[in-house]
Amino acid sequence: MSIFSKHFPLGLGTSRFPISGPNDTKGIEKSVQLVCKALESGVTYIDVGYNYSAGMAPFVLKEAFQQTDRPFSVTAKVMYGQDRTADDARRRVELYLKTMGLKKVQYFTCWTIWNYCIFEKIMKKGGIYEGALRMKEEGIIDHICCSLHAVPGDIQKIIESKAFEGITISYSMLSAANMLPVLDAAYENDIGISVMNPLGGGVIAQNKEYFSFACGDKDEGNTVHAALRFVKAHPAVDLVLGGVKNEEELKDSLSVFTRPDPEPPAERLERVMKSVAGLEDFCTGCKYCEGCPQGIPTPAIMQARNALLFAPAASYNRMEPEELLYHIQMFRPLLHDEGWLPETAENPCIKCGKCEKQCTQKLGIIEAVADTYRRAGQVYFTKEAHKERLRELLYQKGYKKVGLYPNGGFSNLIIRLYQEFFGEPEFEWLQFNSDPKMWGQMADERLVHGPDEIIGLKPDIVLICTYKYDQDIFDSLRQYEEQGVRLEKLHRAEEMPWVF
Ligand code: SF4
Ligand code: SF4
Repeated sequence: MSIFSKHFPLGLGTSRFPISGPNDTKGIEKSVQLVCKALESGVTYIDVGYNYSAGMAPFVLKEAFQQTDRPFSVTAKVMYGQDRTADDARRRVELYLKTMGLKKVQYFTCWTIWNYCIFEKIMKKGGIYEGALRMKEEGIIDHICCSLHAVPGDIQKIIESKAFEGITISYSMLSAANMLPVLDAAYENDIGISVMNPLGGGVIAQNKEYFSFACGDKDEGNTVHAALRFVKAHPAVDLVLGGVKNEEELKDSLSVFTRPDPEPPAERLERVMKSVAGLEDFCTGCKYCEGCPQGIPTPAIMQARNALLFAPAASYNRMEPEELLYHIQMFRPLLHDEGWLPETAENPCIKCGKCEKQCTQKLGIIEAVADTYRRAGQVYFTKEAHKERLRELLYQKGYKKVGLYPNGGFSNLIIRLYQEFFGEPEFEWLQFNSDPKMWGQMADERLVHGPDEIIGLKPDIVLICTYKYDQDIFDSLRQYEEQGVRLEKLHRAEEMPWVF
């Protein structure tokens, strides 16, 4: 039994509400109804981050909670980087409580732990974890959890630390070979698991034919349902998170979990895992090719290249060209899940053949590695390319003030990288954000300003550093360009996001 065992197995994700922005009253109203419907249908767990659904998800929940008396449990997520100390964590939780109109939340989530090193920072004296412990004592939160994007080995170590009562991880048929040891460790330690990306970030839903092997006799040929049942089949998994954008999607997801699995879960797990191992050109993530003498992470590269087998989906607000979409699908797991960004696009492979000899699927790893480095160069997916971009945009330009828009993961990375590449800047960093809730707040020890302050503060350049909304932000700031402020997007047309 874990802290999540009591919940209805479908958890409501809130990052895909049909809301375009704070003024989209229709979208907000639809989303409120969607939450009410989910709660009335038996859903009890709600996963929310303060910036989900154009930053409006917490507000939607507040409205929904006022309209229904159904029971619910909700998260408050605190990310290391944006917040660092126990006091920061408390301030962030208080903001969640205020926005959602609540006196407490059930689950405090240390949000997006990338690796063991970040975990150690969270656990430091006076850090985020200490803040969570204090809030637990005071009854502001019930349980301390985390969401993990680390490599399986680091996740296992974090599980074994027993710091967290519940964890949220990415898990699907695509990553099962890698993740099963993690699930087993969580199960042995009674740690609850909620699963994000149960359809492999959309890959399974977009390639139903390819993944139809997931269907057993009683799945009625519905690959998506079979894939969701597969995820729930492991006894460690208590919750499967489904981000829904309309009632149809909600109904469809509910239909999977309101009935027991028609196939014994252990049999389903074994059957699907056998089929995954038999897929042609598909890397199962078994990792037998590990141990490259040149330090090339061959299992991660080969698994990421599975994306090239399927039609690419629109992602990060990019609809085309197809090649860009393929690259996003392929490089996203390499950076996001593995933290891999090569120094340069030069392929260090010495063609020793060690990896190919070990490959259970007989894949052409040497050629695939060469192609991956070639593509990395093409889409500026290297540390060297990032350095050159910052040099081109900011270094020794005589700037006094540089504005970063918006503050968050991208701006933090830019500040850190600039320092690493060029030392202390000769200019002052300014942070801007469109969200009025952020104005006047400190983020990463710097004040956040609203766009109306751009003219008064006079930055020499405003660098739009997000990827997903860069064009929207560019358009909204164009008026300042007309008043003499230089506007630039960090990312070039073919470029991969610096943060996924
Ligand atoms: S062939 Fe290349 S990628 Fe494979 S193990 Fe040898 S150096 Fe590494
Ligand atoms: S050995 Fe083959 S199937 Fe296994 S992880 Fe490496 S490339 Fe993938």
